[in-house]
Amino acid sequence: MICRCCGREVCHVFLDLYAAPPANSFLTQDDLGRTEPYYPLCVYVCEYCYLVQIDETKSAKEIFNSGYVYFSSYNEAFVRHAAEYVNAITPQLRLNESSLVVEAASNDGYLLQHFKTKGIPCLGVEPSGSTAEVAKAKGIETIVDFFTSALAETIVAKHGNADLFIGNNVVAHVPNLADFLTGIATLLKPDGTATLEFPHFLNLIRDVQFDTIYHEHFSYFSLLSIGEAMRRNGLFVYRVETVPVHGGSLRVHCAKEGAARAVDASVQQVLAEEVGAGLDRLETYTGLQGKVESLCRTFLEFLCREKAKGTKIAGYGAAAKGNTLLNYCGVKPYLIDFVADLTPAKVGKFLPGSRIPVRGEEKIAEDKPDYVVILPWNWEKEIKERLQFIGAWGGKFVTVIPTLTITSAGGSKIPT
Ligand SMILES: [Zn+2]
Repeated sequence: MICRCCGREVCHVFLDLYAAPPANSFLTQDDLGRTEPYYPLCVYVCEYCYLVQIDETKSAKEIFNSGYVYFSSYNEAFVRHAAEYVNAITPQLRLNESSLVVEAASNDGYLLQHFKTKGIPCLGVEPSGSTAEVAKAKGIETIVDFFTSALAETIVAKHGNADLFIGNNVVAHVPNLADFLTGIATLLKPDGTATLEFPHFLNLIRDVQFDTIYHEHFSYFSLLSIGEAMRRNGLFVYRVETVPVHGGSLRVHCAKEGAARAVDASVQQVLAEEVGAGLDRLETYTGLQGKVESLCRTFLEFLCREKAKGTKIAGYGAAAKGNTLLNYCGVKPYLIDFVADLTPAKVGKFLPGSRIPVRGEEKIAEDKPDYVVILPWNWEKEIKERLQFIGAWGGKFVTVIPTLTITSAGGSKIPT
């Protein structure tokens, strides 16, 4: 395959997860009678620019049109994180009623609604029609499309150049990275800023976060690799923040080549941390496969041992990352009875691949499971707070990544 960042031939396998169905293709009762499409899930690393990436095996349009059901506003912590961002960036960039803010993958307006409240003009770009409709109902102008350089030109012609471009958890999903970044450069005013948030690859390798790998994530960025991609497409990173979402993300602030922006010390700090962890050496990238295999064996041994005793085990959070873990491990409903979730569009469906039923949160109170496996470990704290009530019948929490950990609802760790 050809590197999405530097265009050279990529031939080193980083991690092979064999094959899986698309992680967001939840199944209806009727779908259970049909064959699910499985696609290879193999991740490569480029030895030149260190971009970790999967080959594009399924078109982005196909993924987003097939049962994509993620509504950001259902996640309270996510909306809070967005509000904090808007409150910080507005004075930093001196945004006002004559500014323009454009967000790619604006989802249901979970973020732009905070600019709208401040009277700052904003425009969303969102490929999923169902989520875009929710944003429009909130009064947020939204273009139903993918953000590309061609779309950037259309936006500039109609609305002018942007003061701020936001791309949260989208750059990893972009099949044509160069075109996306060129689009940002086209869209921005000469002194404009783009902020991009993405899970920091350093955490993936450090904490064995292999379940963040699925078909919709084409690229896994470090500052080293995103910096190289920016340079190749007329942008540069002038500031970096670490943000505690998705198991540790980077928020990079970028400007157009030639813009009068001093490069902040934070850029050098994060680069030094990455080099210190060996991200500039190919050998660092090998060796994760063995850790993943060991972790999954431990998880399966736990499930098998407990189910043999007649224990009730439920999951919590029908997130995409849970599906990577469950499908790589080959878990089925005879090991995990059901997965509870708050998203109405998922309840009543079945997880892709594992075919575990998704039920509403009330099913936990009804069934009183002995263990609740928290699948989206990035929301562990919030989920534990929500589900404190399982302590009433001695229920315990299980997290799998980075190591299998069992805790009582009171918070004390139980040896495995
Ligand atoms: Zn490369």
